[in-house]
Amino acid sequence: MTKEHQAIPCPDCNREKYFEGLCYWCKNRKERERYQAMTDKEVVSSITNIINKIETIKEWKDVYKDFCNLLAYKDIDTTEIAEAAFKKEIFYPHTIYRNVSVNVRDKLIEMLLQPDCEEASNILMCLALCGDDKVKDTFFKLEKNPLPWRKNLFVDLSIYAESGGWTFDEQGEKSDVIYHECYSLQKSNRHDNTVKAGTILKDKCPICDCNLIDILTIDGNDERLAFLQLKGKVHIPICPNCASMCEKTIIRYAPDGNSTMEIIEAYSDENYLSEKELNKLVSNKLTLSKTQKPIFYACGIEETCTIGGHAEWIQDWQYETCPECEKKMKLLSSISWNELIDGSDGSLYIEICTDCHIIIIFHQQT
Ligand SMILES: [Zn+2]
Ligand SMILES: [Zn+2]
Ligand SMILES: [Zn+2]
Repeated sequence: MTKEHQAIPCPDCNREKYFEGLCYWCKNRKERERYQAMTDKEVVSSITNIINKIETIKEWKDVYKDFCNLLAYKDIDTTEIAEAAFKKEIFYPHTIYRNVSVNVRDKLIEMLLQPDCEEASNILMCLALCGDDKVKDTFFKLEKNPLPWRKNLFVDLSIYAESGGWTFDEQGEKSDVIYHECYSLQKSNRHDNTVKAGTILKDKCPICDCNLIDILTIDGNDERLAFLQLKGKVHIPICPNCASMCEKTIIRYAPDGNSTMEIIEAYSDENYLSEKELNKLVSNKLTLSKTQKPIFYACGIEETCTIGGHAEWIQDWQYETCPECEKKMKLLSSISWNELIDGSDGSLYIEICTDCHIIIIFHQQT
């Protein structure tokens, strides 16, 4: 092997790679830490900069990056940015509108009420993030009495609402599809078993013969996680090989008891996961953060694993219907595979119905 093809360890984490400097993970972590360390004054001046250059947010460059990271790591109020964006008819990223003045909200609703509204899809997502009662009432009315633009959309307005973390039923009753609290799972040597990601199990997958794992074990008794209302310790078993190659996995759990899992529509029965990758997966040091994170934490630069909050959707947002009570399930966790196995693609999304003790897991990738 020639010298230039020799692995160079990352100066921070020792990971082997083939270029100088920090590895991908450490670079993103440092970037996240830089935003987290910003003073209030620095945040204000960054917001001013975003407002002044708002039309460049569409270029997915600095302003876009600053916006997403400030939202993810500093939980910024977006009212003024929304004001500036609205004036220039900018509707993306939709999260710009997660805080809006009554004035901007009403103007967005006004646009939506135009029978020929061309931006309906974007405006629905902006309003979904605002998600107050007036928005809900508007969505409900428009779902019952659609305007001509509805025929250009693929899904109903109650599904659009989900992109903002909520939905409504036939009677217009509103419910959340996300938890409004968020914790992260981060690599740490701290002794804390509240959440464990990746525990090898004795059983083998009935489809591919790979070892099953508990992708998460969550101790719902920990007071940080009281918002989940799990009432016990929940085991979430999956086949780590099939999880990314099947439609979904359905888990029925009993708090402090056994969980059973069923793989729905596997695409393949071959096991592609090596022993080495499996060992790597279960030896991760992901630990529940001590403190709460902003609810858009998963949407920052760093790929991450979260409990609660919004997910970073790789494809369209997707909230499953509980097979038992047929209500919409809530996002319990999103897990970036890259945090568990270096160089792997996609994310795992874990949704729960705590009434029926059912969990559904599915995978998305680019
Ligand atoms: Zn590194
Ligand atoms: Zn399997
Ligand atoms: Zn249910």
